[in-house]
Amino acid sequence: MSTIAFIGLGNMGNPMAANLVKAGHKVHGFDLVASNLTTAEANGLQVAQSATDAVRNADIVITMLPAGKHVLAVYGDIITAAPGNALFIDSSTIDVESARKAHTLARDAGMMSVDAPVSGGVGGAEAGTLTFMAGGSPEAFAKAEPILQAMGGKIVHCGDAGAGQAAKICNNMILGISMIGVGEAFVLAEKLGLSHQALFDVASTSSGQCWSLTTYCPVPGPVPTSPANRDYKPGFAAALMLKDLKLAQEAAQSAGAPTPLGAQAAQLYSLFEAAGHGGTDFSGIIRFLRGEA
Ligand code: NAD
Repeated sequence: MSTIAFIGLGNMGNPMAANLVKAGHKVHGFDLVASNLTTAEANGLQVAQSATDAVRNADIVITMLPAGKHVLAVYGDIITAAPGNALFIDSSTIDVESARKAHTLARDAGMMSVDAPVSGGVGGAEAGTLTFMAGGSPEAFAKAEPILQAMGGKIVHCGDAGAGQAAKICNNMILGISMIGVGEAFVLAEKLGLSHQALFDVASTSSGQCWSLTTYCPVPGPVPTSPANRDYKPGFAAALMLKDLKLAQEAAQSAGAPTPLGAQAAQLYSLFEAAGHGGTDFSGIIRFLRGEA
């Protein structure tokens, strides 16, 4: 069993760290928000006074922070405080460039590192069924994999430094675009007098089939567990979808990749957020397409 430092105990970090405790690891946690530390203590973590304090005896250091600037700032503080052979795992969703910088900071200090963003949301974090997309050397991945298994259902080694973040933003760009596509099809069906159920029955078993339709159907009824059935309570908030679409656009611009639909999806989610719906599930974009939001 490992001694693990877990920095960033928010909506995702706290349940992830709790699963590490359940798996028998000793987990030292730190967050800037006092109430998150109270939850962490109740989950069996040892609460540290600072991020530096948390990593002092750690074999593994996991970060689950809002954005690249937070990860780089925390790495700047903790890298020299951790024991020489510690492995750094960043599971935040951040831009590919910052992810690569974080790897460089770790490598320059003689540490191994993995970028390992997740898919599966708070429900997946609680259930320990997250999908991890990892980037880093084969040696670093081999050391990270058993730790990630305590928090996840599927662990994929996507390639070298930054490849996990690249996989995450490419996947979520597909998701954002496909949700808008499914929403547009339902709005058109409504105008044509076609019932939601009829479109679902056809498209879910035809070439229009996709996750946005069959798991996260944006109209109530056909998939009873989708957020549309609970007034679009997230789920996956539109603000987080917008964050990922913006990261995809940044990466597309710096890599010179044409992503016209990704750009359009980012624009639509920006308008949806600006209209006050950042906290709504991202499938609620259908209301915006109808002109309701
Ligand atoms: P969150 O805002 O709930 O948690 C982030 C935590 O980081 C906060 O509690 C904050 O206090 C803490 N933090 C910030 N700076 C810190 C510092 N210097 N030291 C210590 N703690 C610090 O966010 P979240 O929903 O848990 O998401 C975390 C990451 O996971 C994000 O990058 C997000 O994009 C990604 N993600 C979230 C979801 C989701 O459904 N919530 C799904 C997949 C990926």
